[in-house]
Amino acid sequence: MSASTSNPNVEAIYPLTPGQEGMLFHAIDAPDSASYFQQYVCMVRGALDHDAFAHAWRQVIARHGALRTQFTWEKRDRPLQIVRQTLDLPLTHVEWAAHEADARLAAYLRDDQARGFELSKSPPMRLLLARVGEAHTLVWSWHHLLMDGWSTYCVLREVFAAYDAQINGRVWSPPAPRPFREFVQWLQARDATGDEAFWRAELEGLAGPTTVAGAIRARAPGSGHAQTVRICDAGTTQVLKAFAQRQRVTLNTVVQAAWSLVLSRYCASDDVVFGVTQSGRPAALPGAEAMVGMFIASAPLRARIDAGQPLGAWLADLQARAARMREFEHTPLARVQHWASLPAGRALFDSLLVFENYPMDGALAPASSGLRIDEARHIEQSNYPLAIIVVPAPTLQLFAVYDRALFDAATIDQLLRHLHTALLSMQHAATVGDVDLLDAAERAQVRDEFNATARPWPQQARAHDLIAAQPADAIAAVYRDDSLSYGQLDARARAVAQALRAHGLKTGEPVALCAERSLEMIVGIVGILKAGGAYVPLDPAYPRERLDFMLADSGARVTVMAPNAADESAWPTSVVYVSTAESHQEADAFEAPAFDSDTVAYLIYTSGSTGKPKGVPVQHRNLVHSTLAREGVYEQAPGCFLLLSSFSFDSSIVGLFWTLCSGGKLVLPEPKQEQDIGALADLMGRHHVTHMLALPSLYRLVLDYAEPAALAALRCVIVAGEACTADLVQRHTALLPQAKLYNEYGPTEGTVWSTAYRVPSDFAGNIVPIGRPIPNMRNYVLDARMRLQPVGVAGELVIGGAGVVDGYWRRPELTAERFVTLAPPAGAAEPVYRTGDMARWLPDGTLEFLGRIDNQIKLRGYRVELEEIEGVLNAHPDVRESVVVLRSQARVDLTALEAALAALDPAARDALLADIERLPQ
Ligand code: AMP
Ligand code: MG
Repeated sequence: MSASTSNPNVEAIYPLTPGQEGMLFHAIDAPDSASYFQQYVCMVRGALDHDAFAHAWRQVIARHGALRTQFTWEKRDRPLQIVRQTLDLPLTHVEWAAHEADARLAAYLRDDQARGFELSKSPPMRLLLARVGEAHTLVWSWHHLLMDGWSTYCVLREVFAAYDAQINGRVWSPPAPRPFREFVQWLQARDATGDEAFWRAELEGLAGPTTVAGAIRARAPGSGHAQTVRICDAGTTQVLKAFAQRQRVTLNTVVQAAWSLVLSRYCASDDVVFGVTQSGRPAALPGAEAMVGMFIASAPLRARIDAGQPLGAWLADLQARAARMREFEHTPLARVQHWASLPAGRALFDSLLVFENYPMDGALAPASSGLRIDEARHIEQSNYPLAIIVVPAPTLQLFAVYDRALFDAATIDQLLRHLHTALLSMQHAATVGDVDLLDAAERAQVRDEFNATARPWPQQARAHDLIAAQPADAIAAVYRDDSLSYGQLDARARAVAQALRAHGLKTGEPVALCAERSLEMIVGIVGILKAGGAYVPLDPAYPRERLDFMLADSGARVTVMAPNAADESAWPTSVVYVSTAESHQEADAFEAPAFDSDTVAYLIYTSGSTGKPKGVPVQHRNLVHSTLAREGVYEQAPGCFLLLSSFSFDSSIVGLFWTLCSGGKLVLPEPKQEQDIGALADLMGRHHVTHMLALPSLYRLVLDYAEPAALAALRCVIVAGEACTADLVQRHTALLPQAKLYNEYGPTEGTVWSTAYRVPSDFAGNIVPIGRPIPNMRNYVLDARMRLQPVGVAGELVIGGAGVVDGYWRRPELTAERFVTLAPPAGAAEPVYRTGDMARWLPDGTLEFLGRIDNQIKLRGYRVELEEIEGVLNAHPDVRESVVVLRSQARVDLTALEAALAALDPAARDALLADIERLPQ
């Protein structure tokens, strides 16, 4: 550190602080970015003496080296700051006509920012004084490298004091301030030995970084930074200040606490971290508060949220934590980041909270100067994705400066509103968990408005009665060259029902149905329903162990079987065959039993995490609701429906019951025909198929390989079961503009579907929504504590309404875990099912699917809980531990499960692999 004497006009040369270095590197890296460009704008009212004003600035600049500093870094190991001895005052005068002043100012601010600064050429700061009628607009621009917000305040106060003295003929000679250089020296001399231990302890066990941008994504990305503000009224400000006083904490702590609760909800974490900017002026430097320069330091503040903790105690803890940090606030952030042992390149936090505790207008100019400052604003460009700047006076103002590539304006407005609501909610909260983000109106929106789905429907109806009401002559189903009219379907189904009743079938009892996709399968389903049984679909292609499990678990005593579907001699239950020929005798003998719509209609099994699949019993009323709700969503009932789904998936319910309950024709492809798209397309063309439902991946293959002419009759395509991609939408719209595309969502436990989205032909988004709640279904997006999440924030999708079944088949623990009661204020006390799916509301009341909370995956339509497979592998005597993952591939047919095994005995490897080969495909 040396003052150069050989070079004229250099007062001092010294290194940068770590904070300045970080800024400088960032500025050199992205020279076009406006980061760190600062503007202060205000109106100066009164008779302003231009010469005196310029002189006042010169006096102040002469006092503070920081205002005369430029930077040098080329061909150097470390950058340096060079303080000039003198500086020509960079002040421009202009005159604007009053009517165009606003436009001129806006243009100037924009151009000024675009022009930026050349940090190595001259000190990065300039002034504009524009006369507008009787008043003046002052624009002061500088680079954040020179000074922080508190310094800005010191400079302005001094300028107006110097001006005031001059105008009134007084001498202005305040004590000389300490130069910024002394702070740099103090920093270099600081004992940093305790830093590592402090920060390691502070961040120990942190689950991961807290990134708001990761939790909420901009829907229409822009570029650059933007700023928005939420101003609290005087009453609210007073209430908050009084609250802080009552709690014996600062207002800063109260805002930090509210922000950490916002982060916790948005990021679904009880352990959050964000940057806080502290004044950085060391108590060890007397007079530090009057110094001008770049002192502030940003350090991570960690907040743990324990919902049950009394709010007051939590606030006190947070304040104590922030106070302890002060001693270590100058540790370079890069080092802190390193000690947090996060994966390289991942920032610890992406939001910064800055509490600006100094006045920027009214109080600046002494009354005797004849000047009055108003309309002051400070335009900051932060390099953080999101900076929340809190200005406490005259009323509390919450500014957000955000990166437009990551956030959109609506999201940021909502975020500030939530911060505001959280602040107010603290008044009435006893515990941390009592503080809420949603106000009553917002709660009503996501809970009631988005779920206003009630519609009358026949709650007493049974599914097979709706089928029996269709015209007898119409064709119900076709398979190969055979077909079945509704009359024939009814007669043959009665025969099956009669045989089942003859076996002593009781109402609601499960009946296995073993059949390939065929007319017998249809007859079997309707026959079992007529008999009052619940069909349990058994696909003969499934592994025998799986079939045996479902037979045993369901307790089925009888199996309805298509001829040749399985070997009867080795079958564990008695068997009733579906006859292909009509048998009037038996059908006529059938006396329909009386039972109500609470009777179980089918029992479908899905994967379970304990190694055991679980049965979902669906009652007639669920099924009828699910089927008739289609009238409220779709314009046309299916004339001709292509049934692709296996009847062991509940997506088959759409084709089976929607079609048969509305008199349409079902087209059944032969088993495995979906693997031959050409043949499938022929079938569709031959029957003029109007409706189909497929996994998005299968529909993609149809679009890619089918002859478009074969699809000409299609009017309605439903994709469901897996996420629909934007790419698929584009292909569909290009190839089949005449067909409407729908994305349906729902778990088996909610009877097929709980939301649907009609994809508009001009859809242009990246994520295809799953749409709105269907009639009589309510969808809730909840956090881990079952509280309503606001629009845009991810949470678990929890569903209620007429489709939700009562629980799993004979699995009380699992039922208690997933079928719960929603409690106010999240909703009316109603039974709901926790889907385990993540979703968020969009502002228009549609939902976006965001993946799974757990390890459940979808593989070619199969819902698989990876723990189930791990459980099976772990049960092998040679396996100590296993991990199963889904390996996704661009081509769906190559997507597969992969298992990593830890074997007990390496020698057993080959035998083990051979056993694993025998697992079902
Ligand atoms: P299942 O019970 O077999 O019908 O599977 C239901 C699960 O499939 C849901 O919980 C979701 O994870 C997934 N799913 C169903 N429909 C969709 C969809 N349209 N988009 C994304 N995932 C879906
Ligand atoms: Mg389904």
